Amino acid sequence: MKVNRSASVPSSVAPPEMFTGTVRRDGLINAERPGRVSTGLVTFEPGARTAWHTHPAGQILIITAGRGWVQSEGQERYEVTAGDSVWIPADERHWHGATDKTAMTHIAVTESVDGSAVTWMEHVRDEDFLRG
Ligand code: MN
Repeated sequence: MKVNRSASVPSSVAPPEMFTGTVRRDGLINAERPGRVSTGLVTFEPGARTAWHTHPAGQILIITAGRGWVQSEGQERYEVTAGDSVWIPADERHWHGATDKTAMTHIAVTESVDGSAVTWMEHVRDEDFLRG
């Protein structure tokens, strides 16, 4: 067994190639082989969001603080708040982030397939982020 202590690893700033705005990532524990699940605690400042992306085995998001938006392509944009949880099906193009005015923090739970948990695409344009 391993216990991962809170704040035992420095926070990191999410790379601008994959995110818009200010996004902080804090480490949580990940499965070891043969497990395939990884986790992340991600905080989006107002206006910040992921780029469009897909997950080969889907993803669960658990909103732990604030209020944000999540959207799959061609579907409605959902507003989510602390305590809400979200399932994103495998290979469904989507993004997640803050709202334009409020920060949001979520835990992301993601399984990998052949060593990959995400495929990144283009940034979410401001007009698409705001319109939903
Ligand atoms: Mn995702």
